[in-house]
Amino acid sequence: MKLVNTSCCLQMEKSALIELSTGSYGSILVQPRRMRKFVLLTPVALHALCAAQTLLPAEIQLVLTRGYEPVTMILRLSRWIGRLLFTLLYPLRAREAGAIFHHNGHGCDGNHIDVSIRLNKQPLQLLPFSVFTPLFLIEKCEFNHATALARVRSALQSEGFVIHQNRVEALQIHCDLTR
Ligand SMILES: [Zn+2]
Repeated sequence: MKLVNTSCCLQMEKSALIELSTGSYGSILVQPRRMRKFVLLTPVALHALCAAQTLLPAEIQLVLTRGYEPVTMILRLSRWIGRLLFTLLYPLRAREAGAIFHHNGHGCDGNHIDVSIRLNKQPLQLLPFSVFTPLFLIEKCEFNHATALARVRSALQSEGFVIHQNRVEALQIHCDLTR
């Protein structure tokens, strides 16, 4: 774990972030997505996440997968391509593309994180085809893991996180710290 300084696109000022590498941190697990080696988040978001973990039964473990990510040209391009593919694949869900392929705060500061779940030490497969998971599989995953999802969301909300309203983002457990 180390402290990193980065600029915040909203406030245009320097804010300290914590860099967490792959592995265990206290009772939570850190598993960065997209070939990344670490997750960046604010100390207050990390504290709230750890506090949420204490509200959960031992069989449920929170896995931190994403935090602050600087917006790069490659990231912008991949989001644009993803949005196009999603719209072509799911024309009836085109309105969702904006929410799914937006940085959703990850590009601003370390108070916006994605979390996944391990149940009895096994990762829960909530989006088998990532953001391109069809709606019927999303509904199946929501149904199969309703109890664990409800517990995790409730614990995160108790510690000040707001879960994204989009169904796909909600299964990535994208949450924003609001206090
Ligand atoms: Zn997210």
